[in-house]
Amino acid sequence: GATLGVMGGGQLGRMFVHAAQALGYSTAVLDADADSPAGRVSHHHVRTGYLDETGLRDLAQAAQAITTEFENVPAQALRTLAAQRPVHPSADAVAVAQDRTQEKAHFTRCGVPVAPHAVIETPEQLAAVRADLLPGILKTARLGYDGKGQARVDSPQALAAAWDRMQRVPCVLEKLLPLAFECSVVVARGVDGAMVNLPVQRNLHRDGILAVTEVGAGVVPDDVAQRAVEATRAVAQGIGYVGVLCVEFFVLHDGALVVNEMAPRPHNSGHWSIDGADVSQFELQVRTLAGLPLVQPRQHSAAVMLNLLGDLWFTHGSEREPAWADVLALPGAHLHLYGKAEARPGRKMGHLTCTAAHLADARATARRACEVLGLEGF
Ligand code: ATP
Ligand code: MG
Ligand code: MG
Repeated sequence: GATLGVMGGGQLGRMFVHAAQALGYSTAVLDADADSPAGRVSHHHVRTGYLDETGLRDLAQAAQAITTEFENVPAQALRTLAAQRPVHPSADAVAVAQDRTQEKAHFTRCGVPVAPHAVIETPEQLAAVRADLLPGILKTARLGYDGKGQARVDSPQALAAAWDRMQRVPCVLEKLLPLAFECSVVVARGVDGAMVNLPVQRNLHRDGILAVTEVGAGVVPDDVAQRAVEATRAVAQGIGYVGVLCVEFFVLHDGALVVNEMAPRPHNSGHWSIDGADVSQFELQVRTLAGLPLVQPRQHSAAVMLNLLGDLWFTHGSEREPAWADVLALPGAHLHLYGKAEARPGRKMGHLTCTAAHLADARATARRACEVLGLEGF
């Protein structure tokens, strides 16, 4: 049978590998880590850095088509692979998603509003920042994730100091918006332009990291949901995207929708689809990569997903394994652990999706799971 390749061996790669194998494919993972979550469950594991020529050749030799699970894979590596094999999403699309400045320009071109912001690449641009962008969040244009590479600033002095601490790399200063809530949409687009999407997901972040995602009737007002799906489709269409794409949104108190950022891959907020929909975001990734038909996923259960961060391993002082058996005693609780060797605070170790026929019941189960595990409630 055919082999599908993925750049990156993290948890997203692992869930891609699981979905690919379920459809009968072999898999090849490229990741320098000898014991990566995806590498250890994959048929083939190329253990080199992303730009290693031998590694890229080995991956292209092993796999008939290649995707990525990590948005910071160097676009050059994807270009090298694309000379030999189909690569989805393309290096160009990934390059836009890797750079907040380009990403915002793309959103604007697609007619989707972004937060008021200023690009800061030079001392002159820093000096010219308008006072009405403060208080704001200074974000490195590249390589940030889980709120890393960001600083909240409330004065020109604080802004200048924060930029210094970031070694004056290219940044974007965004106005701090008063959020009513956050949501995201996952779409999948095929080579033929066909598009399907998961329902709108409502997200709660803590310390810049996703903590809880809820999906079900009423989590997002219908008109907001409809606008978010339309905007996400426009963003994918506008870049000729092939693969799975997630767009994150802010919803303001007046109902206005502002796009935050996009991820050129399945997204943490879409993990619920493994247990709450008949086609998961990872199966959609496999289908787009293998050129299989795309069907609109049907959500069959309301779902609440809780991220399980490494902090959970340290809630009782010294390190110890959380009480999984107690969580698994809850009906509708689906546990996913990523097989990471070491728990560290803030590190994504797994997630728990609670499903039920009705959102209120999924919430009740998730709240119970929080109590059992000692997780902060929602
Ligand atoms: P990831 O890629 O892991 O989602 P990230 O490091 O790229 O995270 P962002 O998505 O830019 O970070 O921001 C993280 C969170 O910080 C947002 O989900 C939101 O809760 C908050 N945030 C970011 N920008 C703003 C803003 N302009 N106004 C208000 N809150 C914001
Ligand atoms: Mg991001
Ligand atoms: Mg984000």
